[in-house]
Amino acid sequence: MKNLFRILIIIIVVVGIIVVARTLMQKPWQHHKAEALVPLPDSAISHFSKGIQIATISPEDTTHIDTLHFNAFRFFLEQSYPLIHQKLNRTIISNYSYVFEWKGTDTSLQPIILMGHYDVVPVEQSAMKLWTAKPFGGEVKNGAIWGRGSIDDKLSVISILEATENLLKQGYTPKRTVLLCFGHNEESTGTGAIAIVRYLQSKNIRAQMVVDEGGEISTNKIKGVQRPVAFIGVKEKGYLTVELTVEKKGGHSSIPDKETSVDILVRALYKLRLQHMPDTFTPSVEEFLSRTSGSSTDFLNKMALSNRWLFGSTVKKIMNESAEGAAMLHTTIVPTMLESGVRENVVPTNAKAIVNSRILTGETTKDVINFMKKVIDDERVKIKISGDFNTEPSAATPFTSDAFKRIENAVYKIEDDVIPVPFLMLGATDSRVYRAISDGVVNFTPVVDSKGYHGIDERLPIKDYQKAISFYTLILKEAQQ
Ligand SMILES: [Zn+2]
Repeated sequence: MKNLFRILIIIIVVVGIIVVARTLMQKPWQHHKAEALVPLPDSAISHFSKGIQIATISPEDTTHIDTLHFNAFRFFLEQSYPLIHQKLNRTIISNYSYVFEWKGTDTSLQPIILMGHYDVVPVEQSAMKLWTAKPFGGEVKNGAIWGRGSIDDKLSVISILEATENLLKQGYTPKRTVLLCFGHNEESTGTGAIAIVRYLQSKNIRAQMVVDEGGEISTNKIKGVQRPVAFIGVKEKGYLTVELTVEKKGGHSSIPDKETSVDILVRALYKLRLQHMPDTFTPSVEEFLSRTSGSSTDFLNKMALSNRWLFGSTVKKIMNESAEGAAMLHTTIVPTMLESGVRENVVPTNAKAIVNSRILTGETTKDVINFMKKVIDDERVKIKISGDFNTEPSAATPFTSDAFKRIENAVYKIEDDVIPVPFLMLGATDSRVYRAISDGVVNFTPVVDSKGYHGIDERLPIKDYQKAISFYTLILKEAQQ
């Protein structure tokens, strides 16, 4: 007995030494000093402001597109970027999406694609009074340009155009062909992007790299890490919408059955919310944790992150506390729409719920349906796939790929001391369809702690605008090997 106790003590001491040693050995991610940013081109601010003033609100129904504003935006592009329109070959796709081709000197090399979308989400009427600037005013105040689209995603579109026009002015020609692709309905159907990809496929184009909107630089997202972190999207979760229906004879609400269709459905939804699919550290999440843990100033945090072999479940528990952390770890399932009943005194015969799921890499639509069936465990709840946007999770762009490294290098040059990390995209963007023509899709928006996109007081600090133009200039000049 005494010996057993001794062995136990020795094991605890050894494990303790290993844990502390691993924690202390975990070095902070390499430090880099940012370079001087490209000077802001003369008319860059007035261009951006004009671009915001054109309310290119995404058409929910593509037949109802506001042609006035979308034509005005075309005119704005032609007026603001004359060299691009002279020297690059523009193709108009689906009436309002664009591909600009900047021919490289070596056409044997695969092109790179810089992309974005210039449609924006509408501003809710009820939120209008909460804005401190006009949503479509393009006002410049307090060191920022204000308005809907200033982050999502006119920031990408206009910064890419500014960088390109500026390089053309300097007489620069890329070695690798560059394609600038801009969609006009990313916020609704995304058919512009689909048509662009079809067009590129018809020309047998495969791109070496595709850069689209996505993660950003954050200074406060990771507890204990005082350095800025650049979230570079390398894959997207899958998307699945499912319809749950229950049919059970209703009747008068004065003499209700013990169990109604609504009761059965609500219980099923409740069960689905009580559990979730298994937590997994995917390779990109592993890399993300490794890169940030060394820079954590919180010893306990650092200890847990550096010793995931021992504290894996604790790390998962901590990550699960935030909605974003949880979404990185597992497939999410949440009810989004409910429908039942016709009168206040009638027990409904039918109850229906729409449930939306975002699928983690490594799992499939089938796994999600099986999980739902098992958890609900009630034959009376019928489960059916619905919706038009269902997709399996995307393949990941390796963080060892050229595409990822180029973003990393450009990020080091625009942001002091930044830690670039691979990141799982939680929402879907236009670039998901580009994976059909490239293994190097990366999602990154060069902005720091963005404010207000899809919400109130969306605005872009001028400093970030300059960073964004510098970022795309670096990509254009350095993505040539
Ligand atoms: Zn967007």
